[in-house]
Amino acid sequence: MQQYKLVSAREEIKKAKAGKYAIAQLNINNLEWTKAAIEVAQELKSPVILGVSEGAAKYMGGFRAVAMMAQGLVESMKITVPVILHLDHGQSVESCKAAIDAGFTSVMYDGSEHSIEENVHNTTEVVKYAHAHGVSVEAEVGTVGGTEDGVTGGVNYAKLEECLAIAKTGIDMLAASLGSVHGHYHGTPKLGFKEMEEYSHATHLPLVLHGGSGIPDDMIKKAIHAGQSKINVNTENQEAFAKGVRAYIESGADKTETGFDPRKLLSIGVKNMKETMKGKILLFGSNNKA
Ligand SMILES: [Zn+2]
Repeated sequence: MQQYKLVSAREEIKKAKAGKYAIAQLNINNLEWTKAAIEVAQELKSPVILGVSEGAAKYMGGFRAVAMMAQGLVESMKITVPVILHLDHGQSVESCKAAIDAGFTSVMYDGSEHSIEENVHNTTEVVKYAHAHGVSVEAEVGTVGGTEDGVTGGVNYAKLEECLAIAKTGIDMLAASLGSVHGHYHGTPKLGFKEMEEYSHATHLPLVLHGGSGIPDDMIKKAIHAGQSKINVNTENQEAFAKGVRAYIESGADKTETGFDPRKLLSIGVKNMKETMKGKILLFGSNNKA
């Protein structure tokens, strides 16, 4: 590994599958989020995937701005654990290519809304471009329920033949939707553990679990055992952050002396979020694997 450089997910995800642990994808929204995720990973000696949706990239000023911020933090903070910058739910081939050109080291092409033929066709194009640039690729089959970044869908379970078709494109990891949802779960999640095991064996691919927030710990462990090697966490970190900022403001701390300083205003939020991130990495078992 080159020193202080963002890396592809390729080797790390293979190691995770073989070692029966999962790497956390922590979605980022700004500098605080990015720094928190990287700091926690370094502290726990864990690889980490920084997830960036198209909407989040736009919010932060664009793919290039995000890539330079993440790369800059890794360099300035002398981060030695593998940090992967990943486009989450790339909506088009063009968008994946743009992220790669900007310096992302991993992309997800989400063609789950299309027919399996079109999904395979587009994923193939992304894989060709990504692998030529040393970038890893995640594809999706079936649809994750709930809403993320304005994209809403009902749960639609992935079929084995579709997983096998997409696996042939040469992707590095597969998001096979098996009952998870983005955002909050209503009741207990109904995850297809049997299918996870079956698909993981049949495709030989590390699986990706979207909607990792709100799944009970024992189910997460079972999912990892069944072949999930990357678990996306977003909502829980956002809630932890919001709760901290709310506590700060409700205590009136922003009205005292220099309490309005954004570094203070956001401090409890950041601290809470780091605790949540730490908990996830320890639960997924990727600590001391970097
Ligand atoms: Zn997702």
